[in-house]
Amino acid sequence: MSNVLVIAGLDPSGGAGLVADVRLCERLGARPLAVATALTVQTTEGVAASHPVDAAVIEAQLDALLADVEVAAVKIGMLGSPAVAAAVARALAATAAPVVWDPVGHATRGVALFAGELREAADVLAPRAALVTPNADEATRLTGVAIVEADDAVAAGRLLCARGAGAVLVKGGHWGPAATAIDVLVTAGDAIAIEGPRLAVDGPVHGTGCALATAIACNLAAGRTLEGACRHAKATIAAMIASPLRPGRGRAAVL
Ligand code: PLP
Repeated sequence: MSNVLVIAGLDPSGGAGLVADVRLCERLGARPLAVATALTVQTTEGVAASHPVDAAVIEAQLDALLADVEVAAVKIGMLGSPAVAAAVARALAATAAPVVWDPVGHATRGVALFAGELREAADVLAPRAALVTPNADEATRLTGVAIVEADDAVAAGRLLCARGAGAVLVKGGHWGPAATAIDVLVTAGDAIAIEGPRLAVDGPVHGTGCALATAIACNLAAGRTLEGACRHAKATIAAMIASPLRPGRGRAAVL
């Protein structure tokens, strides 16, 4: 069984972040290793606060784990602060495993989950990432390009590749045609549209971005190509979005 290292924030309600990532890794046949970057105060009704974990503790955990365990892929989610981003980037120099970075900026309800400029986190993390998975808003924060149509997603992806990312998947949840959700996978020399149905669900489903990046990491760990990993993960998460869980009084969760 492949080890997948998850570096993410703790959402105690279990719909996003570390708890959800660990559960998804197990569901997809990988063995998760988990390092918490931040502790959020959060329920299904929203994020009330977020407290970063000491960057030195995170770096020590990663240094120790990566010296011990062979990791087949890494997923990075919420980082919380520029200091944590820098510590994670330094520690990941110890592994050649593919890194999938979901550049979490804000919770859907607006609370900041990164206390700083995402652009600056990209300076240290893009060169370490085999794939960066921004939504439209995160792609704009990272590159300055407003995402209105597919060409904009390609332009933003190219800018991030020029800053060192291996590839960029600009997710189609918040732009594009009404019936189709188009994720655009951009590599240095190519751009591929990965289409799926835009799912009619009752309000936003919590944790979809986290789950997609984790599923891609698990697929890479299982030996799929980057495009195959993205296509397979999109189908997996679409099926989960179509039948979400309702663990509390607030939003539905993807798992
Ligand atoms: N909490 C944590 C720990 C997360 O990683 C994320 C998203 O990545 C969220 C909350 C926000 O999730 P949502 O955008 O679904 O509100």
